[in-house]
Amino acid sequence: MFPSFSLRYARFPDHMRALSQPTPVASPRLFAFNRPLAEELGFDLQGYDDEQATQVFSGNRTPEGAEPVAMAYAGHQFANFVPQLGDGRALLLGEVVDQHGRYRDIQLKGSGRTPFSRGGDGRSPLGPVLREYLVSEAMHALGVPTSRALAAVTTGERVVRGMPEPGAVLTRVAASHLRVGTFQYFAARGDTEALRLLADEAIERHYPHLQALTDDGERYLALLDAVAERQADLVARWMGVGFIHGVMNTDNTAISGETIDYGPCAFMDRFNPRTVFSSIDEQGRYAYVNQPVVLQWNLARFAETLVPLIDSDSDRAVERATPIIRDLAERYEASWRQVMRAKLGLATEEDGDGELAQELLDAMQQGRADFHLSFRYLADAVEAGGEAARLGGEFEQREALDAWLPRWRERLGREGVSHADIVARLQATNPAVVPRNHRVAEAIAAAEQDDFGPFEALLAVVTDPYTMPAGEVDYTRPPRDEERVLRTFCGT
Ligand code: AMP
Ligand code: MG
Ligand code: MG
Repeated sequence: MFPSFSLRYARFPDHMRALSQPTPVASPRLFAFNRPLAEELGFDLQGYDDEQATQVFSGNRTPEGAEPVAMAYAGHQFANFVPQLGDGRALLLGEVVDQHGRYRDIQLKGSGRTPFSRGGDGRSPLGPVLREYLVSEAMHALGVPTSRALAAVTTGERVVRGMPEPGAVLTRVAASHLRVGTFQYFAARGDTEALRLLADEAIERHYPHLQALTDDGERYLALLDAVAERQADLVARWMGVGFIHGVMNTDNTAISGETIDYGPCAFMDRFNPRTVFSSIDEQGRYAYVNQPVVLQWNLARFAETLVPLIDSDSDRAVERATPIIRDLAERYEASWRQVMRAKLGLATEEDGDGELAQELLDAMQQGRADFHLSFRYLADAVEAGGEAARLGGEFEQREALDAWLPRWRERLGREGVSHADIVARLQATNPAVVPRNHRVAEAIAAAEQDDFGPFEALLAVVTDPYTMPAGEVDYTRPPRDEERVLRTFCGT
């Protein structure tokens, strides 16, 4: 039933990863399995065997041909460099070639101790597993590049995080788990050979067109440029869906340009650029509005690791890499304008579109309006004269909104398409449902009492985000004051 593993990372030299086995668990129960993703990865679902799946996704049995490894990496955590982190509670089973011919990593998270576990137990509570499952699958449905959730099991064991909680194992899938921190690990040790292997691996897997560049320095500089391009686009998309990653440490910045490592992440409700959810982010370093700034900082750290590969003269290497980091802000702004144009129903580009978008955000902030519903209900206000009651109802004060709407309509007029077309665009771009924090918290609380119904219901609506959901529970609404969840916790 499992596709064959290619073992790219398992074959890397010993000091770049550690062979390691999952630690078996007492009584695994598979409660989620992502069939469409499994199919895409080349699983033989005709031969699906629940018992075998449960054994493998809990770590109780290693699938045939897999050689699990824990990957070494370092990273800046809240700007402090930690020279050794590594997969302390994750294990890479191996890579598979998916139906599009792309390599994908299959990784267990919460599968027990590894040589990188330090003082940790290598386990994960159920809550973080559910959060990652829901949020990563929602992000995928929203068109944001991301790691995916393939399966989740409860272990029948308790993990202690202050209080004992049910344990779980998540199986996640990523284009790769190469991170800025992976490069930092070897750069900090002056291991240029390992850096070259990593850079070549990143190019082959994620940027194969760069292989045509025969000059080494040029090729590795182009790698930096390509990662900057994808990451700028990624963070712009996060901003467009109101997503706050929460822990943008360099070890959580993927070379592939996918969102990885979902911890205390959340979607904002009311628009406020300073929004922070993570309980450990006391300074607001990773607040919504700071994400592009932090990205630039993280990619500067990536650039530093590539210096010896870009030019044997390090001053010259720095000189060549600097413009890429400097221009990242501009690149990000361009991606952001693209994202926001789509959210405003615009397909053409004009100067002033960015300002138009920013003025709506300012109006939302002033009016304490919900980010998602404000965009979703723009579709009611395309035509002048309509009262746009649902949209206006999201705003505690609507003066700024009322001043903005005529200017937006005037801009829409220059699109040269019908109102119906604009409405269709708006509804295909602005989701009705995201996994709001209070709903995620509710699903976790129920699952901890062994009721997975709310998790399943929430997963169904967030993976079909542009459709107004029917049913009793209103998944579109922000929390009432008493439902608000202000803090999210890391899964450690
Ligand atoms: P994260 O907060 O997920 O980015 O993890 C930071 C580092 O701590 C990584 O090296 C993790 O592998 C490690 N880590 C986090 N939780 C645990 C745990 N329960 N057991 C072992 N290592 C852990
Ligand atoms: Mg991490
Ligand atoms: Mg993590």
